[in-house]
Amino acid sequence: MTTQYEQASQAGELPRLSRKLKALAPSATLSVDAKAKALKAAGEDVIIFGAGEPDFPTPPHIVEAAVAACSDPRSHKYTPAGGLPELKQAIVAKTLRDSGLQADPGQVVVANGGKHAIYDACTALLDDGDEALIPAPYWTTYPEAVALAGGRPVIVDTDDSTGFKVNVEQLEQYRTSHTKMLVFVSPSNPTGAMYDRSEIEAIGRWAADNRIWVLCDEIYEHFVYAERQQHSLPVVVPEVADRCVVVNGVSKTYAMTGWRVGWLIAPGDVAAAVVNFQSQTTSNVANVSQLAALAALQGDQSVVASMVEAFDRRRRLTYSMLSEMDGISCIEPQGAFYAFPSVKGLLGRTIAGKQINSSADLAELAIAEAKVAVVPGEAFGAPGFLRLSYALSDEQIAEGLSRLAKLFESAGE
Ligand code: PLP
Repeated sequence: MTTQYEQASQAGELPRLSRKLKALAPSATLSVDAKAKALKAAGEDVIIFGAGEPDFPTPPHIVEAAVAACSDPRSHKYTPAGGLPELKQAIVAKTLRDSGLQADPGQVVVANGGKHAIYDACTALLDDGDEALIPAPYWTTYPEAVALAGGRPVIVDTDDSTGFKVNVEQLEQYRTSHTKMLVFVSPSNPTGAMYDRSEIEAIGRWAADNRIWVLCDEIYEHFVYAERQQHSLPVVVPEVADRCVVVNGVSKTYAMTGWRVGWLIAPGDVAAAVVNFQSQTTSNVANVSQLAALAALQGDQSVVASMVEAFDRRRRLTYSMLSEMDGISCIEPQGAFYAFPSVKGLLGRTIAGKQINSSADLAELAIAEAKVAVVPGEAFGAPGFLRLSYALSDEQIAEGLSRLAKLFESAGE
């Protein structure tokens, strides 16, 4: 069979779009969110469990720092491509304070959010055909960032029977001579799973023994509940530090998703290559946003604790309401702000006159019939599940989940 590219070039014309962008999937989470917001704007009473962002405004002292920065002509200029020196220094101090990881400013690169830092890291590390192991359910960006960089995403499936966590035996089954990288995230989007110290240690040792790089996503490091402890992989297994890229940012911790400040911490040679890449692609992150992030990292940290307390309450509410629903089973989310219930008990049944064959069908029905937006597991490589972000008010959670419960109650055989 000739491909579209071959057909086009036989016709003497090159395709309009590159292969890379043609193959790129749109962000399912952003598109669920956009559709739900459009319905809301049209006057519908929609409850949105779609978005991966805190519903709180950015704390006032951070906003004030940004307002002051706006009025200062110094922040109207480019900064170094890798970020403001004072912000890099603050990231070093914050990383030592919060996770015990010692780094120096030459290892830090400030990027346009954690998402951009992930793309930077994949571009810096992966050559065509290099394989990156990605445990599923995965955050939608990981396979796309790997593929855009020319790498091959290799999906390692997990399910609720293991709390959505991979172990070394599974990883070993997928390791080949082309395996360059493992993507590791804890707490996890989309499942809310968290790895224990001993599990992190085993995975870190496996990576070190096999000389595999770890892309360690710590964006949800502060969203941990019920006395659980967050552990940073290169701190638990220091031997891996020379092949580890830690990704983090202010989006989630300080309710700053729109400001677009994230970073990576990498070995010096990798960080220097990423600075070079950014200098030719995005230049610097908005100067004012960098100064806002500086205020966030250096300012009063009690704002984080109070947001986390609210998320913990919402987590318990979400988990208890989901656990009581017909056809649903849910493991207790331990971190981040997502629940990831299985809806397999509803598949093959009829709800509101429609046969439900997949979690995607169910998500469509939820928005159409109950005006509740959720993201189907298909978006995360895990059909049969739904992702619900509980970053919305307690009242909205209770109302949205009551609507879903009512809808699911009506399921026929
Ligand atoms: N990593 C994970 C697992 C995420 O869920 C997100 C955002 O949803 C990010 C990284 C990046 O966030 P941002 O680009 O806003 O810093």
